[in-house]
This record gives sequence, structure tokens and C-alpha cells, in this order.
Amino acid sequence: MINQTIKAPSIEDFKALLKRHELKATRQRLAVHEAMMALGHASADMVGDHIGSASHVRITTASVYNILSQLADLKVYSRRMSSNNKMYFDVVAERHIHLYDRDNNSFRDVQDEELMDLVRSHLKKRRFKGFTVEDIDIQLVARPTKKTRS
Ligand SMILES: [Zn+2]
Repeated sequence: MINQTIKAPSIEDFKALLKRHELKATRQRLAVHEAMMALGHASADMVGDHIGSASHVRITTASVYNILSQLADLKVYSRRMSSNNKMYFDVVAERHIHLYDRDNNSFRDVQDEELMDLVRSHLKKRRFKGFTVEDIDIQLVARPTKKTRS
């Protein structure tokens, strides 16, 4: 059993990832990653707002979206769709379990290798006619137990 912690790439790791993909570490890309490290899971609007309030980097939402999409295509980030039909980007690219808060449309990472192993070993015995299972994506859908103001 691999027990890996869910961790976002540090700024140094991020610069190395950009270099590996022959991308320049522009101020805009670094600002996007800094925002993603703070937010974890966010839409382009949320990242744009965060950059606007936390730094002096000027960037349009369209550029933020382009950077996020490019990084997701390169598997530096991953994508998640929320139930209010917003594209969220996840600063962690590796597969992990999520808890989705349906009241606030937000995602949280869940560390549970045991659950993942349980599902994996169960599915080893299952066959789905005409399909090959390529990936397992576990998302728990939840609602806050106490009313929270979003
Ligand atoms: Zn996540």
C-alpha cells in the first residue's frame, strides 16, 4: 500500500515542471500557481480574484483560464466539474479522493488509502462488458452539518 500525502507542487517544483515542458516561468504563470497553492481547487474566476487581491500582477480572467487549461493539459493540474457547472482546477494532478460540498460548491481532499485500496481490490474481480476501467475517481458528496456562510 502506497501512503502518499496529497501535496501541491512548491514554487520550486512548479518552476521545474514548467522547464520540463519548455515553458517560461512568467510572472503570470507564477501568480496563477501561487493562487492555486492558496486555493487548492478553484475556477479561473476565483484564481483571477485571488491574484487581483493578493498581488500586483495584472492578468485577465481569459489569460488565467488559458494558463490553467494549459497546465491541466500537461497534467500539472487536474480538472473537476462542480455541480453548478463550473470548471474547477485542482493544484494536485495525481488521483485522490474528494469531498464535494454541495452547498458551497467546494472541494476538499480526503486522505484515505484504505478506501481506495478497498475499491481497487473489489473492482479487480469485476468486469464491465465492452469496457476497460482505466481510472477510479471517488467523490463523496456532502453538505455541511452546520450552516456556513459562503
Ligand atoms: Zn483535490
